[in-house]
Amino acid sequence: MSEPGLVVDRLDARYGDFQALYDVSFSVAPGEIVALIGANGAGKSTLLRAICGLHPAGRDKIQWRGTAIGGRPANAVVKLGITLVPEGRRLFPSLSVEENLLLGGNIGRKGPWSVKAVYDLFPALIEKRHAPSTSLSGGQQQQVAIGRALMANPDLLLIDELSLGLSPIVIKDIYKALPGIISGGMSAILVEQDVNRALASSRRFVCLQEGRVSLAGLSGDVSRDAISHAYFGT
Ligand code: ATP
Repeated sequence: MSEPGLVVDRLDARYGDFQALYDVSFSVAPGEIVALIGANGAGKSTLLRAICGLHPAGRDKIQWRGTAIGGRPANAVVKLGITLVPEGRRLFPSLSVEENLLLGGNIGRKGPWSVKAVYDLFPALIEKRHAPSTSLSGGQQQQVAIGRALMANPDLLLIDELSLGLSPIVIKDIYKALPGIISGGMSAILVEQDVNRALASSRRFVCLQEGRVSLAGLSGDVSRDAISHAYFGT
């Protein structure tokens, strides 16, 4: 049997009395890209946050390479090779581009990523390297957020809203860079509002509707009607 990657097993999540996730199960194999889709408020961010230790989860509810990691603190999860590109970038505003990148590498995991490798992937960042991250365009800020996550040399990259708020040209560029971002056997969960792009960029998909998995399968096989029903419940 091949080595398991990520397994999410009947995960629930709550904010106080409000239940955001119900009984969510899915897996991500090594090297696989899984698109996580669903309408606003479906629970996508909560699911990613639970996986990377930013939202409470029972120990056995999240397994990584055969080890139960649910509820571990976020810094411990990063050390295990799981990093998040958060919705809204969340760069450190008082730090420069390069300082943001270097912070991502602080964890000390070995691998192919370095500041130079990030600049090779996103050359536009070179001339901005000493600029405050807040002075960048939205697309460049997303590049820094991706670069910062890559600097930890992850084996599983969680990308929350890859293209949200970016112009069509920038989105095209980011997607062109995707094979260079998710490379070398890395796996990824890709949250993306643009369902067509999400499906075209992934091997499998999971659709959430009001906190539940409404549909999952191979991205290349699914019909528009099935997606529409799973997405909106219509
Ligand atoms: P979006 O695309 O809008 O980011 P999402 O699919 O990522 O949506 P979540 O952000 O995970 O969804 O939110 C799932 C549900 O949990 C929503 O109903 C949301 O209002 C609720 N929620 C999220 N964060 C909190 C919070 N901090 N406190 C209370 N409820 C929250």
